Amino acid sequence: MPELPEVETTVRGLAGFLEGEVIARARVHRPDLRRPFPPDLVQVLTGAKVTLLGRRAKYGLIHLDREQVMIFHLGMSGRWRIDPEYIGKHDHLVLETGAGHVLALNDARRFGSVDLVASEALEDFAPFAAMGPEPLGPDFTPAYLKRALAGKIPAIKLALLDQRIVAGLGNIYVCEALHRARIRPDRAAGRVSLPRLKLLVPAIRDVLTESIEAGGSSMRDYARPDGELGYFAAHWRVYGREGQPCHCGGTVERFVQGGRSTFWCPKCQR
Ligand SMILES: [Zn+2]
Repeated sequence: MPELPEVETTVRGLAGFLEGEVIARARVHRPDLRRPFPPDLVQVLTGAKVTLLGRRAKYGLIHLDREQVMIFHLGMSGRWRIDPEYIGKHDHLVLETGAGHVLALNDARRFGSVDLVASEALEDFAPFAAMGPEPLGPDFTPAYLKRALAGKIPAIKLALLDQRIVAGLGNIYVCEALHRARIRPDRAAGRVSLPRLKLLVPAIRDVLTESIEAGGSSMRDYARPDGELGYFAAHWRVYGREGQPCHCGGTVERFVQGGRSTFWCPKCQR
């Protein structure tokens, strides 16, 4: 499932083919993904110039010179294919640039989405309206987090997965960041001290940045026919490592929080 780093890597990969380019042709091969495509999608995209690629949480943003932004979400299985050898049945939206590149939004399980929003109303887009700051942005600081978590009884792990507190963090990255900051995942969010939050914020940034860089190092794959943007292997310290040793000499354990697996080390996380 594409997480924030995969979306960021995807956006950077797409930028090389789309920024400053005109979309010469746009086609949709079915009426919907998780929800219907905008009825004017093909009309708005065709002939539009792409001014900028961006990301908000796990959404990719394609800014057009028509005061509109195409917002895509990759859902569970979405990916963009660059210059594929053939257009397959899961390539639901296909763009052709003025330079002749073909970009196909492929989504076998169709949990993804595509929306068009007026540029000036981007922050009002429903999923963005109540969203907290970007974890890699300037507003995500230990002081902010201290305020946002004040008095909160739920576990810090669950608070960090709450999109209203910080945008776009997934289960893997929260497990890894809590381990790096040596914070128990089940500690009440409001009881994590400011000194610990001063470790946690950079830990979150580091885990995300390292994954983005790992994805970036496989950027050469983007030029490959049938290349798939945005998936890469990562080496986790606790995630998926139940029963294996932690670098501190402890043993990684697993329990379920909010319906999802938490991996942690009881020896070094307090
Ligand atoms: Zn440990």
